[in-house]
Amino acid sequence: MISKSDIEALIDLTGRHNKHELTACLVENVRKIAASSTIAVYEVFNTQGDRESADNPSGFVVRNTSNSVWLGEPVAQHEGFTECIATKQIVRLTRENPLSTRIIFPVRGARDPIGLLVIDCHSADAETLYMIEALSQVWRSQQFLLDRSEQDGLTGLLNRQALETRMPHLFGENPSSLEGTSGTPTCKCLAMLDLDKFKEVNDKFGHLFGDEVLVHFARLMNTSFRPYDDLFRYGGEEFVVILQNVEMEKALSILERFRNAVEMYDYPQVGQKTVSIGVVQIAAGQMPSTLLDRADKALYYAKQHGRNRICAYEHLVTSGQLQESDVSSGDVELF
Ligand code: GH3
Ligand code: MG
Ligand code: MG
Repeated sequence: MISKSDIEALIDLTGRHNKHELTACLVENVRKIAASSTIAVYEVFNTQGDRESADNPSGFVVRNTSNSVWLGEPVAQHEGFTECIATKQIVRLTRENPLSTRIIFPVRGARDPIGLLVIDCHSADAETLYMIEALSQVWRSQQFLLDRSEQDGLTGLLNRQALETRMPHLFGENPSSLEGTSGTPTCKCLAMLDLDKFKEVNDKFGHLFGDEVLVHFARLMNTSFRPYDDLFRYGGEEFVVILQNVEMEKALSILERFRNAVEMYDYPQVGQKTVSIGVVQIAAGQMPSTLLDRADKALYYAKQHGRNRICAYEHLVTSGQLQESDVSSGDVELF
């Protein structure tokens, strides 16, 4: 029998409008229903660079999101994962030692699974399993809606709102949301990218050609950056990349490869365009507004000094070309 608290759990889930809260809510409610259960959320990456094509998932890599360090594992290491990605259906496994039921849910992206929700229930009866599946289906539908609302309509990249939601979680400061969060900070960098003299494209060729350049630029981002870096359209012809698990020197070489790819690219009719980039290393405890302000200052410096270049905030400060800046929470209400 479905109880009043089961209904309340469903209502609770549909009221969450943020992915971290949504998953935390699912974890909490599943624990209430089946006391001895564990939940893990895995991200799915196609190592070929195409983020969403499940034609041959055997080469995919998965990462447990509770590890803030990048620990990608071949999908084949986990029983049932390949099947779940390929069929896009829920997979149920009975495990003998200890006796438990594992339920694997595909988390849909625009086309194919981009994540897996894995719930292990120990000694749960059929009714409990049914309720867990029902909750997880609602979680999955909500995830799908939230994913859509976080997507930029023109380029398909994450939008500015998605960046705002994610910035406070860059170091997983929300350990309650996922099982076993290690909380270990890793090196990450934030880069702000701005197309050079983009207005000229609109002026010379018209707005539609401008839009097409933005779409091609976003595709270049998708193919140049690693599948687990987060790519955002920040606004207009400005983009943000969160580079995972890299120190500044490595970030600079990745960005240089991208800058070069942009310079070499031939846009239909429009020809070549270049990009300027400001980058900053993310340190634990920094205000999101300070990070964005620093990346923006480095970007502005790149624009002022010839464009088609990458400037690192820390290098500019060390060499005395910029003064260290902090945006206190009271100054700018970005998030
Ligand atoms: P800079 O090298 O200094 O960045 O010069 P810029 O011309 O790229 O920069 P500016 O800020 O002067 O102009 C940005 C232009 O981007 C102006 C705006 O019309 C255009 N833009 C913003 N969003 C869109 C969009 O979605 N589509 C198109 N086609 N143009 C856009
Ligand atoms: Mg520009
Ligand atoms: Mg701009």
